[in-house]
Order: sequence, then C-alpha cells, then structure tokens
Amino acid sequence: MTVVQGGRILDLPTGRLGNACDVHIDDREVIEIAPVAARTRLERHVTTIDAEGCVVLPGFRNAHAHSAMVLFRGLVEDVSIVEWFNEHIWIVEQNLTPDDVYWGTLLASVEMLRAGVTSVNDHYFAMDRAADAYEASGMRANLAVALFGTAPGAADELRNSVAFAKEVSTRSPLLTGSLGPHSPYICPERFLRDAVEAASRDSLPLHIHVSETHGQVEGSLRTHGATPVAYLDRCGAIGPSTLLAHAYYATNDDLDTIAERGATIAHCPKTFLKFGMVTDVLPRALERSIRVALGSDGAASNNTMSMLEQVRLAALTAKGATGDATAAPVGAVAPLLTAAGTVTGLPAQTTVHVGSPPDVVVLRMDGAHTTPARNMASHLVYSAQERDIEWVVAGGRVVMQQGHHVSLDEREIITRCEAIAERLAVHHSSRPMQTF
Ligand SMILES: [Zn+2]
Repeated sequence: MTVVQGGRILDLPTGRLGNACDVHIDDREVIEIAPVAARTRLERHVTTIDAEGCVVLPGFRNAHAHSAMVLFRGLVEDVSIVEWFNEHIWIVEQNLTPDDVYWGTLLASVEMLRAGVTSVNDHYFAMDRAADAYEASGMRANLAVALFGTAPGAADELRNSVAFAKEVSTRSPLLTGSLGPHSPYICPERFLRDAVEAASRDSLPLHIHVSETHGQVEGSLRTHGATPVAYLDRCGAIGPSTLLAHAYYATNDDLDTIAERGATIAHCPKTFLKFGMVTDVLPRALERSIRVALGSDGAASNNTMSMLEQVRLAALTAKGATGDATAAPVGAVAPLLTAAGTVTGLPAQTTVHVGSPPDVVVLRMDGAHTTPARNMASHLVYSAQERDIEWVVAGGRVVMQQGHHVSLDEREIITRCEAIAERLAVHHSSRPMQTF
C-alpha cells in the first residue's frame, strides 16, 4: 500500500483544488482519502510519499503511440509526411528486431513515467517484447500488433494477434490487448472486415489510423466513394470500442458518425504541426461531445512522449486553426490529459477519488512558473513543466521518485538504445515496407 500525504487533489475540468489530504492506494484502486488531521501511525509495510505543496492528479494517459519509435527520434526532420514514411521510416523500420522493440519500449516507458504518463495504447511490432518492457517498467499498457494485412500470411498474422491480445492480459493486471489493423489506406477491405469480425467475436478493442491527410480523404473518395471514416463505418469498424488515431481531416459528417457510434479519437497535434498541417478537428469534435484523448504518436515524428506538451499544442492548434480565442478552453482540454483508456477498459477519470485507478501523479505547484497557484488547470495546460512532477504511482506502486525510475537502470537503457539507434539508421534497401 502507498499513502500520498498532504497533497491537494485537483479536479481537471473545474481546476478546483481540494484541501490537503492523505490518499491511500492499494494495487487495485484508491481506497481512502482522509483529512490530514485524521492521520494515524501507519503500518511498517506502507510506502509514504510527502506531497506537501503538491497537487495530486490521475496519471496521464497516452491514447496513441508507437513507443519503440523513440529509437528513431531526430532521425528525419523537415520533410513532408509522404517523404518521411516512404523514403525513411518504412525503410529503416525493416531493421528492427524484437530485442530492439524491448529496449526502445523500455526507454519510452521511462520517458513517459517521468512525464506523468502511467498508461499508453501502443500500436507497433514485436509486441510480446514490448509487453516485457512494460512489465519491467511497471507501466500500464494496451498493446496492439500493427497489421498491414497485405502479405500472403495475413490471415495467420491476424489469428496470432488475436491470440496475443487475449493472452497478454493474463500476464499482468496492467496489460491488455487490442487489434491493430493499420489503416483503411493500407489494409485490404477483406482483411479489415476479418479484423472487425475477430474484434467483435473476442470483445477486443480496435486501434486504427484514419484520415491523417487531406490526400487520404480524396483517395478514399476516389477508390471507395466514401471518406476514410465513412468507409470504415461501412466495414463495421467504428463502435464504442474503436480508437481512431488522428481523424485529423474528419469532415463534419464523419464526426457525426463517430459521435453516434461512441468511438474515441486519439488527437496527436504535434506530429501534424511538424508536417505543416493544421485543422480545427478538436473543437469540432468537442462540440459533438466525442470522446477525444491525447496521443504522442511515435517519437520519430513527435519527438517526445509528453502529454503536457500535447495538451498545450492541442489547445493552441484549436485556437490558431479557428482564429477563435474561446476555442478549446482550459476546462475542456485539461481533462484530455486523462481521457485515453476508456476504450481499453479504464474508467473515465478527471480527478482522484475513492475507487479510481491506482495511478497517480504528484506535481509541485509552488515553482516560480506556477505561481500564483490560483488556477492549476490552466497551469497544467499552459505553464507546468515535467520537472514539476515529483512522484508517479502506477498500478499502486511508486515507479518514479524525483524524476528517476525506482528500479530500472536508466543509464544502461540509454546506452543500449544509443547503440541500437545507430544500427537502425542504416538504409539496407531503398524499398519501403509499405507505401504511404
Ligand atoms: Zn500512429
């Protein structure tokens, strides 16, 4: 058991701070919140965290990531999204081994936990090794094997990924699985429909990319006579357990469909800003009460796994794209920090309360850049820094203490990843594994 002592609980939508309290956490949930005055002597096996002068928040949740892509961070900059995929990323990714994915995921986990991110929806390759990394780091993860569905053994790959998604949740209470057909622009229709059928048969969420560029929307209209979202809907792929990565160029009709089906959008604005793309999808989605969550995408395009950075850019992108200062207000965007996860089985959560998941961030609020501490929700969106995060609890266990992982050797992980990244950067062929 862990007790977070003397912090003040923040409610993300309203920015309200509670009185100083003690938060008791076991490995399943927050079990008690007691006033500091009621504090009694604790049993010896209890871990205590001094949270005086700090706010206590739910762990941030990363809705969409390709975690091991941290190994490609900074490899390619200042090119178009088409060049980025076809001439770089889909060439060097062919060098990846399962062991690389393990070390890359471990590095990403350390970075995320450091940034207060206690859960992630990871969509990538060699996910059994990624699962090993999450187990080692103590981070909560939902894993989806990325499936293209174009190779001759596609049916077997789908079967194996269903088996993996079911098996991984038996390894640890912090791990769950999804199916990850890559996107409507890569997966053939037959394969998509098979994946949708498998997901519904085995009650697995679907995690899929959609409408990432204007060109994809036009291409889909030409090929299928429907936008990518409408086409996915026709394939039965959009429902309450569907996580749509990006939907950056979703039309209003698309958003109406997404709202009606109860699907979730993973919004990752930094990747798109870097590729020179700005849209007003966030305010249009919020208007329709669509479940929107924030994602980091891969660090090869996004460079960090930070949700604080993502929430800031989400608010600014919305305001910049609409020319409207009232778009994406603090009370609507701060809760996006913790919005991911409902699609993968975590309850919706915007504050820490009795019965909430045992994932908690303790953040200092008395730094020069967060003074006066009169509106901590606004500070989270616009001024808080990751160095303000003092403690992180995931799955009821303290995993980060003053910026360092409590059990992993960060130096070793960094040294290993440096060596791997150098090997991965070599182009052994000029043929990409797919065409974007
Ligand atoms: Zn992605």
